Amino acid sequence: MNKQKRFLLQESDIPTQWYNIQADMPNKPMRPLNPATKQPLTAEDLAHIFSLECSKQELDTEHAWIDIPEEVLDMYKYYRSTPLVRAYALEKALDTPAHIYFKNESVNPLGSHKINSALPQCYYCRKEGVTNVTTETGAGQWGAALSYAAKVFGLEAAVYQVKITLQQKPYRGILMRTFGANVTGSPSMSTRAGKDIITRDPNNSGSLGTAISEAIELATTTPNCKYALGSVLNHVALHQTIIGLEAEKQMEMAGEYPDMVIACFGGGSNFGGIAFPFMRHTILEGRKTEYIAAEPSSCPKLTRGEFRYDYGDEAGYTPLLPMFTLGHDFKPANIHAGGLRYHGAGVIISQLIKDGMMHGVDIPQLESFKAGLLFSRTEGIVPAPESCHAIAATIREANRCKESGEQKVILFNLSGHGLIDMPSYDSYLNGDLSDYNISDEEIRKYLAGVPKLD
Ligand SMILES: *Cc1c(COP(=O)(O)O)cnc(C)c1O
Repeated sequence: MNKQKRFLLQESDIPTQWYNIQADMPNKPMRPLNPATKQPLTAEDLAHIFSLECSKQELDTEHAWIDIPEEVLDMYKYYRSTPLVRAYALEKALDTPAHIYFKNESVNPLGSHKINSALPQCYYCRKEGVTNVTTETGAGQWGAALSYAAKVFGLEAAVYQVKITLQQKPYRGILMRTFGANVTGSPSMSTRAGKDIITRDPNNSGSLGTAISEAIELATTTPNCKYALGSVLNHVALHQTIIGLEAEKQMEMAGEYPDMVIACFGGGSNFGGIAFPFMRHTILEGRKTEYIAAEPSSCPKLTRGEFRYDYGDEAGYTPLLPMFTLGHDFKPANIHAGGLRYHGAGVIISQLIKDGMMHGVDIPQLESFKAGLLFSRTEGIVPAPESCHAIAATIREANRCKESGEQKVILFNLSGHGLIDMPSYDSYLNGDLSDYNISDEEIRKYLAGVPKLD
């Protein structure tokens, strides 16, 4: 029997277009609203903050295929294709009849999938004459990816990182500076928003909300400076479809087709990236594949949130997005999977959930690390704390297969490695971590803060 472990594409077989699921969705996502006028948002509205090309991609419901620019493809080739791997050792440890495959998006200079969107975003900025990009970052994966991509395309990058994270987990800050970015702990004295926060509360240790406010202020007050976002928005998920499009070809090399596609879920970009290309066959040809998004049970917007128009950020600067949300001022517990601590779900995903095309599952923190440990000890890759959620959801399904005797084919996305997150594993191994439960009442309280539209 052919027990091939890894499936790789030739450079010439790397996909040259991204897949825009919006064009094929039977029910299009509802339009985001301009927060000032409450009117449907236009690409011109978005282009005040984002590059024009990304603004157009965001609202494009017509073109199913979008060409990847030559210059971006050239840079994808520095690390793509990424391997599709059959997890034989994990299967064996679980004693499951399921066939488990994973797409390894951790093997690139930055260690997570975020680089797949950082490169095109910086490329479009460059092409449109932009000289500076700015963003916020929590744990730092996005900031690191953007710093590298900015350097590649000759842009200056300014990254606002949550102050407390920058101090407690300094390595990604160092990585960003290594790639030439200007890194500032937020709140800072460099913006009006930051000054206001510090004046009110000198000991404020920062949050994604403060960092977003500072980055957007910089983008809107600096000539030739654009803002870039690493998740949630449609154009980010579009760029990430390179993952699923490659996986589709690689599964074919393996002679299989997934019964289930699983990814962890923060704002939805790595999930959309691996799932949408397969979902196209479900929409167009009725193929029966199950799509499962694994969120932390401490931040359960997919399973316990409400479908509402809400802001994408804590400060309320972004357009109003029609999405499953826990409320924009939701304060998630301080779990180690920093990339999954986001209150909302992105408008495409939210529509797909409403239409019953996919569903979420909630993973407690301890279960996620237990899964990460088993994966490390079998497949030899230490997963990012975020990715551990996808592994835990995969293990649940593989165990179900063991009970029922079904030989399902499961594909999950390994969104990143955890080698810069070792303090999280240290805490887990020392027994210092716990699960966080959130009550219905708390969720109701946060949802009361969602703006009411009349
Ligand atoms: C940012 C991040 C995530 C969560 O973001 P999505 O947009 O939901 O993919 C997941 N895994 C890793 C490794 C990340 O860096």
